[in-house]
Amino acid sequence: MAEILEVRVPDLGTDDQVDVVEILVAAGESVAVDDGLITLESDKASMDVPSPAAGVVEKVRVKAGDKVGEGDLILTLATEVEAEDAGPEAGAEDPAPAEAETDSHDESTPESDSPPASKPERDTGTPGEDTGRPAEEDTPSEGAREVRRPAAPGGARHAELLVLGAGPGGYTAAFRAADLGKKVVLVDREATLGGVCLNVGCIPSKALLHVARVVDEAADLAEHGVAFGEPKLDLDKLRGFKDSVVGRLTDGLATMAGKRGVEVVRGEGRLIGTNEVAVATDDGEITIGFDSAILATGSRVVRLDGIPWDDPRVMDSTGALEVPEVPERLLVVGGGIIGLEMANVYAALGSKLTIVELLDGLIPGCDRDLVRPLERRFKKRYGAEIHLETRVEEIKPQKNGLKATFGGDDAPEPRLFDRALVAVGRRPNGDRIGLEAAGLELDERGFLPVDDQQRTAVPHIFAIGDLVPGPMLAHKASHEGKVAAEVAAGEKSGFDARVIPSVAYTDPEIAWVGLTETEAKAEGTPYEVGRFPWAASGRSLGMGRDDGLTKILFDPATKRVLGAGVVGFGAGDLIAELALAIEMDCEAADLGLTIHPHPTLSETVAFAAEVFEGTVTDLYLPRRKRR
Ligand code: FAD
Ligand code: NAD
Repeated sequence: MAEILEVRVPDLGTDDQVDVVEILVAAGESVAVDDGLITLESDKASMDVPSPAAGVVEKVRVKAGDKVGEGDLILTLATEVEAEDAGPEAGAEDPAPAEAETDSHDESTPESDSPPASKPERDTGTPGEDTGRPAEEDTPSEGAREVRRPAAPGGARHAELLVLGAGPGGYTAAFRAADLGKKVVLVDREATLGGVCLNVGCIPSKALLHVARVVDEAADLAEHGVAFGEPKLDLDKLRGFKDSVVGRLTDGLATMAGKRGVEVVRGEGRLIGTNEVAVATDDGEITIGFDSAILATGSRVVRLDGIPWDDPRVMDSTGALEVPEVPERLLVVGGGIIGLEMANVYAALGSKLTIVELLDGLIPGCDRDLVRPLERRFKKRYGAEIHLETRVEEIKPQKNGLKATFGGDDAPEPRLFDRALVAVGRRPNGDRIGLEAAGLELDERGFLPVDDQQRTAVPHIFAIGDLVPGPMLAHKASHEGKVAAEVAAGEKSGFDARVIPSVAYTDPEIAWVGLTETEAKAEGTPYEVGRFPWAASGRSLGMGRDDGLTKILFDPATKRVLGAGVVGFGAGDLIAELALAIEMDCEAADLGLTIHPHPTLSETVAFAAEVFEGTVTDLYLPRRKRR
């Protein structure tokens, strides 16, 4: 017998009335547990009200534009009724929770206005189906989930959302969109997901940098009474460690894509219109139509002219991450983050470094007082030669090495190197994805312009990550990926982060966020700075290091944090508190009065704020600066 259930507005966490912006179901329609019924929207957020039970909608009692509050009647639902139209597998009495979860996504699409007969397509993902997915779909809780495959009338492939490129931007976007109910196809030309970051960037470089740091720390202990002797290198094992870290993460992505029903297509894609891509796969070219697309094809290495790239002794970052050997004499061309991180790895393993940088300082864009401790350490510890305002004129392969000639005021004499790492920047891949077919154009620097919702000039085509203007950083790409996915799924979202932190994972680490002192001076922005040298940090000294610094730039009028920089062990982790401080409009007192655990490096953040406030006791301040 049918039982009528009254579905009411749940606790919204506010006493205010909120708007009904969309009705997702119609009278006579079958729903499963957790299917979205209506969409509510307040000033702060929007939410779908899920169905508490399976059944058939009897009568909808609200309409779009109404205002409702907790307890208001939304609709009546006839439960315990066989949903005849929904087919045997969509039995309304006992839907598997995971199935219901998947189904609820699709209800928020316009098709949900269709009668019940349109639904079974979503409900047919039976556990034993040949989905082409890995075995995780056999697990009981996941088995009932629908694995989405692109399908469209006539058998042509179609995606509600197509994501081109599976780096940190693309996979984040694909996963977020799938979680929001979109049918997603994720296309990447590589065999593993994760893009540059996971495969040949952030992750492998950090695994090697970890090893480098431990090698150095172990050696440093000799001065403190524990000597280990010379390290014995097993490069196969070292590569194995790095590759295993990468493998765990990329396998994890593949599993998560499967669990979310994201279809992964391997192949090189390019736009062939505003709603279609062509993908060159191993089995030939296919086309995939899409309602919306997110372009996330990242960037590639800049290849300097005059460099014999076909000589295996010349490496870009990808080659250097393979650690083919530890060369005795390594030339590093480019004193940016890649050059210095990889230089750090090779120096710790035993290479003698010569670094040449075109500009007048390493890591351009970062304050000099943050870079100096790194420069000092490279010179003192590794005997590195650093030549600023110097360029490589030519690298000539010879039997006994690579003969490099240099230009510039500080140019060294021509000399031989065993290997060269060339890391002079990356350029976006927007020129290789058929943008013209969609009427899209790159800016003068090769980036694809987007608005603050990551939309390109074609509103249903979004772009994110290294492809679009801004720093080429994985955390920027993934943040943008979420924004684009949410906007594509009809959510209220936008990129409104104030700051994006930067980190060089060298030893010492260098991290900065928000306004730099260099920028403040150049722009004439008023600021005051609180500096806390780590020579006064018990924790740092206890780690055998006194070369760190934490500094925070404050607005003299409001005392709010404008920017910050940290150099020293773990600076990359410490900078997160300062990024939050900027996002939250923190004043100096907020940082100083927050009790930081002792003895930690995090105290240096509070101490730097106290230096600005004039209240610090862990340093001696001149009387005029005390308060
Ligand atoms: P990518 O990661 O470049 O991914 C793009 C994907 O698109 C790739 O998988 C590619 O195969 C695919 N693709 C491209 N064209 C096509 C096509 N036509 N069809 C199909 N697929 C295509 N950033 C940090 O924040 N922290 C770090 O520590 C850090 N370390 C780095 C170390 C190194 C050595 C390098 C090189 C970079 C590092 N970066 C780091 C930068 C970071 O890797 C990038 O900013 C980030 O990967 C960009 O993400 P993305 O999603 O935009 O693109
Ligand atoms: P980069 O632009 O950061 O640095 C390249 C350096 O090479 C610059 O200092 C530049 O002045 C110099 N240079 C350019 N031409 C030269 C020449 N002919 N001779 C000598 N020097 C020259 O580029 P990168 O280090 O290759 O890194 C590429 C991107 O990857 C960057 O955007 C960076 O943000 C990102 N990345 C980030 C991290 C991280 O966040 N830890 C790590 C690695 C890479």
